[in-house]
Amino acid sequence: MHSAVSSPAPDWLAVPDDANDLVPEIWPASATRDADGELSLGGIGACELARTYGTPLQVLDEGEVRRRASAFRDAFDAAAAEHRTTARVYYAGKALLNTSIVRWVMDEGLNVDVCTGGELEVALAAGADAGRLGFHGNNKSVAELERAVEVGVGTIIIDSEIEIERLAAIVSRTGTTQRVMLRVNSGVHAETHDFLATAHEDQKFGTPLAQAPELVARIREVDGLDLAGLHCHIGSQIFGVAGFRESAARVLDLHQELLAGGNIPQLNLGGGFGIAYTRTDRPEPIESLAAGIVSAVAEECEARGIRIPALSFEPGRAIVGNAGVTLYEVGTIKDVELDVGVRRYVSVDGGMSDNARPALYGAQFSARLASRAGADGASLVRVVGKHCESGDIVVDHEYLPADIAPGDLLAVPATGAYCAALSSNYNHVPRPPIVAVDAGEARVIVRGESIVDLLARDAGIDR
Ligand code: PLP
Repeated sequence: MHSAVSSPAPDWLAVPDDANDLVPEIWPASATRDADGELSLGGIGACELARTYGTPLQVLDEGEVRRRASAFRDAFDAAAAEHRTTARVYYAGKALLNTSIVRWVMDEGLNVDVCTGGELEVALAAGADAGRLGFHGNNKSVAELERAVEVGVGTIIIDSEIEIERLAAIVSRTGTTQRVMLRVNSGVHAETHDFLATAHEDQKFGTPLAQAPELVARIREVDGLDLAGLHCHIGSQIFGVAGFRESAARVLDLHQELLAGGNIPQLNLGGGFGIAYTRTDRPEPIESLAAGIVSAVAEECEARGIRIPALSFEPGRAIVGNAGVTLYEVGTIKDVELDVGVRRYVSVDGGMSDNARPALYGAQFSARLASRAGADGASLVRVVGKHCESGDIVVDHEYLPADIAPGDLLAVPATGAYCAALSSNYNHVPRPPIVAVDAGEARVIVRGESIVDLLARDAGIDR
């Protein structure tokens, strides 16, 4: 009797025809293999990058960031023009923020959203025009709000009633006028594909739709607050138009009601545009997605007999995610026998300190050998880090060449967003540098940490 061959591989992961292939949706456009099979990024070989900067190493393809930023700008400009409105794109800095990125995306015509005083200072240090910044956060301190008003942040996105009073006091004291939006919670959840409204939304961001009219009335009472409109962000890794349409429809009901009390020129539908982490993710090209979202908003406005407002969007991951590739060196390898087959554990010299996403929310990534192309035949592997947590997983399931060996370089693509941004010094592992590559040139844009950095905050050391 034959029994099926059992394997710890999940159903969604197929054995690839070629375990050295580079799926274009996942990698930056510059990722290629040279004649010897070595991976090259931005025109520079992975081995040279590792030799020069060490591993782990976060490589960021500048051209890819710029291309994606300008593609978002052009796609939303074109879609908005079709419906006689305008669209502004804010890069959501929480995905990955440093002065170089701020300059690149602003050069490409994007605005930037920040959500803490620290992020605001990075944008200002990059020389950003404060008028092109949006300021988010569910618990902005008085000091953060004062700084934002003082430097002339374009829009502050108010999250709560208490924040209105904090801002009212600041604008009255300083005699300024501050443009604001109110973040509402539409009850649409992109992650769960559950677009049904929950009447009592159990989460910290924004204001429930039912309470929003009261808060808008209070904002309108304050002389120095200029209400631009409503803001809503429904989550991350959203594919398709449906979630945006559903959320827009609910927010537009409120928008329509509020028009009775005065003009509401803008509507911000947030970010969350999905990207490819593995070959099963299939993001739609931004041109058709933008056209679909803006058409959906236009239809919802027409159905209500209201004018389409000026729109804004806040992509983070979709701008930087696929521009980032992390290079690791393979250390130990062990085969673990399970009831369902063998799992090969490949340990690398980083882990949850440079990419917390798998440990935080079970995020899936993919991987490829970078220093060479492997021989025929693929093994199912789990790539893990060097940290003292069994959840320290970098790539949960992947097929890699069966001859993978200690000393090989491994590349994990799609690590540009929420990896360096969420990095830590767990186990006193220094955070890696971020190196920008473009047209055969590489340069450090964020310095890697050294042991000196790690010891610098320890007050118990005599200096
Ligand atoms: N806007 C807001 C308010 C957010 O909270 C986030 C992410 O958490 C974003 C934009 C960016 O989301 P993404 O990086 O998925 O596009």
